[in-house]
Amino acid sequence: MIKAENVSFSYESEEDEQKKLVIDGVDIEVKKGEFLALLGHNGSGKSTLVKMFNAINIPEGGKVFVEGMDTSDEDLLYEIRQRVGMVFQNPDNQLVATIVEEDVAFGPENLGVPSEEIRKRVDDALRAVDMTAYTSHAPHMLSGGQKQRIAIAGILAMKPDCIILDESTAMLDPMGRREVIKTVTDLNKKTGITVVLITHYMEEAALADRIVVMSGGKAVSSGTPHEVFSDVEKMKELKLGVPQATELAYELKKRGINIGTVLDAKEFLEEFKRIKG
Ligand code: ADP
Repeated sequence: MIKAENVSFSYESEEDEQKKLVIDGVDIEVKKGEFLALLGHNGSGKSTLVKMFNAINIPEGGKVFVEGMDTSDEDLLYEIRQRVGMVFQNPDNQLVATIVEEDVAFGPENLGVPSEEIRKRVDDALRAVDMTAYTSHAPHMLSGGQKQRIAIAGILAMKPDCIILDESTAMLDPMGRREVIKTVTDLNKKTGITVVLITHYMEEAALADRIVVMSGGKAVSSGTPHEVFSDVEKMKELKLGVPQATELAYELKKRGINIGTVLDAKEFLEEFKRIKG
C-alpha cells in the first residue's frame, strides 16, 4: 500500500533558520489490508512521517510510494490524497458542517462525485461507523467518540484504501476510545481497509498486526505486538510502556515464574492455567 524508502525530513527553525532533521533515514512498508500501529515518544517524528504517506509532507531525501505512485509527483497529489485519508486528534477541528450527513458528504462533494452516488456513500459510511441513527443530528452535540466516528465516516465516503489515525483517540474518554478502536478494527477486518494507527495507548497497539516503534526520527523496532512487547526493557528505555497484562507477566517472570509474553487479560489467564498445569 505504502512504501517509504530511506526518507528524511527537516523543519526550519523560526529562531535561527537552522534546519532540524526530524526524520532520519526511515524505511517502512505498509502492506495492503494491514493494521499497523506506530509508537514512539512525543517528538519522535510519527506525525511528520505519516504526513508523508498522503503527500502533506514531501520527503527531502528518499521516496514515498502510495500504491506505486511517487508522492513527489504533483500530478498525482489528488489521486494519492483520495487513497489515503487522515483522521486527526481533535474531533472538533474536523467537523465542517452543521448536520452529520452534510459533514460526511463534504469530502465526496469536493471530489466531484455525482449527488446520487454521494447519497449512497454517506449512507454506507454512516452505517459502517454505526452512526446511521445520527444522520440529521448536529455534530457539535455528539460525544467525542461519536465525533471521531463521523470524521472516519467522512474519510470513508471518499473511498480510500488506507486510513491513518494520528492520535485520534488521545482526547477521548475511555468509552469514546473503545468506540473508535472498535470501529477501526471492524473496518479493517470486514472491508480490508489498511489502517495506520498512531497511539500512546499500548493496549490499542496490541490489537495491530504489526508495530513500528520510532525514536529520534528513526524506526528502531518493528514486529508483531508479541515480538515488540516481549522486550519490556527496551520499551522502557524508549520511554514507552507495555500493556498492563504484559507488565504483570514480566514482573512475575523476573521473580522466577515461567510465564511467556502476554498482551491482555485473556492471554494472561491462559498462561496462568498452563503454568498451574
Ligand atoms: P510525534 O508525532 O512523534 O510527536 P512530530 O512528527 O510531531 O513527532 O515532531 C517531530 C519533531 O518535529 C518535534 O521535535 C517537533 O517539535 C518538530 N516539529 C513538528 N512539526 C513541526 C513544524 N510544523 N515546524 C517545526 N518543527 C516541527
